[in-house]
Amino acid sequence: MKSIVFIFALILAGPIWANLNLAPPDFDSEYGRAIFVDFKKAEYVVSFDIKNKRTSVKTRISFTATKTGRPIFDLVPEPRNLVLNGSPVSQKLITTPGKETKLRLVIAEINPGEHVLEMENTFSRNVSYNDKFDTVSSAFWIRDLRERMFMEQYIPSNFEYDQYQMIMDVKLIGGLGRQDIYTNGEMTKISNYHYRIVYPEYYTVSCPYFHITPEKSMNRRDFTYTSINGREIPITVYSPWGFRTRAFKAEAIKVMAELEADYGPWSHPSLVAYGTMPGTGGMEHAGATATSLAALDHEMLHSYFAKGVMPANGNSGWIDEAIASWRDRGYQRNPSIDFTGSDIGAHSVYQRNTDSRSYVFGAAFMAYLDWRLQDVGGLKAFLRGYHASYKQHVVTTEHFKNNLEFFSGINFDEEFHTYIWGINSPDEEIIPGENPHHKHLTDKELRDLL
Ligand SMILES: [Zn+2]
Repeated sequence: MKSIVFIFALILAGPIWANLNLAPPDFDSEYGRAIFVDFKKAEYVVSFDIKNKRTSVKTRISFTATKTGRPIFDLVPEPRNLVLNGSPVSQKLITTPGKETKLRLVIAEINPGEHVLEMENTFSRNVSYNDKFDTVSSAFWIRDLRERMFMEQYIPSNFEYDQYQMIMDVKLIGGLGRQDIYTNGEMTKISNYHYRIVYPEYYTVSCPYFHITPEKSMNRRDFTYTSINGREIPITVYSPWGFRTRAFKAEAIKVMAELEADYGPWSHPSLVAYGTMPGTGGMEHAGATATSLAALDHEMLHSYFAKGVMPANGNSGWIDEAIASWRDRGYQRNPSIDFTGSDIGAHSVYQRNTDSRSYVFGAAFMAYLDWRLQDVGGLKAFLRGYHASYKQHVVTTEHFKNNLEFFSGINFDEEFHTYIWGINSPDEEIIPGENPHHKHLTDKELRDLL
């Protein structure tokens, strides 16, 4: 019966990866109507010029517009040489109507249909050239508690609602040293100095994993894990320290067994885990993570909720941290919620980052939902079905609530309006501290992970 409900909801969700309905509202800017668009394919050529210590990107984005207006994209570094449908154009860095975030606007009006946007940029964040060995270390680290910290730090990108094919050619120019690349995309070696990475089409801007290091600078263990559905999942764990890869392998196998038993088969092509120093916390990508050993389980859970079922925006990011923290605290079941209210899912529609109070408030909310759902198998039973139906899809808080209500037959209006959308009743006196699984790292600390 429950599975029928999920199938029904899946049909209502509409065609796969056509997510423009989940974009924030278009708006009027000083340069004209700003419209969100649907990226179909983004092709990147990332060149590491080792002699000149310069990292450059050439990008070609194919996208669809459904309205007339000026298209939105984002890139933190300044883009150059923009070309839209074959003609040179300019762009401006603008703010959203409530000044929630900055983004880039192409200064050219387009009509509904297919378009191609090309540009170039350089970036220096998380790149380190090594003179002595003629090599480079670089990684596309991301963060979700601060805004503009996804792929837009490095390459032209869209907002999190959008799922699109990313193809990245990595070229090493003028370098003699060999390199290793760790990625959650499918990589082809074209030559010692040219690799192509094709990321799965379901990825959003917060999914890709890319880490290039001098050859053999990391200890690496490759093995496979037999999924409960019989698939052999390739797993790579790597770290500067050999003993850490042993511990990572053992922990990855243990956590994989636990998560598959609770939430069904692993949905990503592989698992890549980079073992960093104790105390560094971790960050999740899709079927990949850079993490300390202590946070590996938390980050792997995020391959189910965060990068399996994916948030469409900053207002739905609380769901994944709530589930992960609920698990971290031993899956508590509580008949009541010990805070008066919160607005962790009630920020502006343009906000991109997750509310950092989601761990504490969200975990308490999930413990309460588990108590309410105990007659229908508990919250885990719901989450297992939700993951089965919506893995590789992006979702919103409203979608989560609707499916929860379908599954349980319980109306949760009051609970969501109080504890998630509680615009009038935020618990100002409770400001939770930093979560150890997602520590804030300085720019230098992020660079030190390279
Ligand atoms: Zn987390």
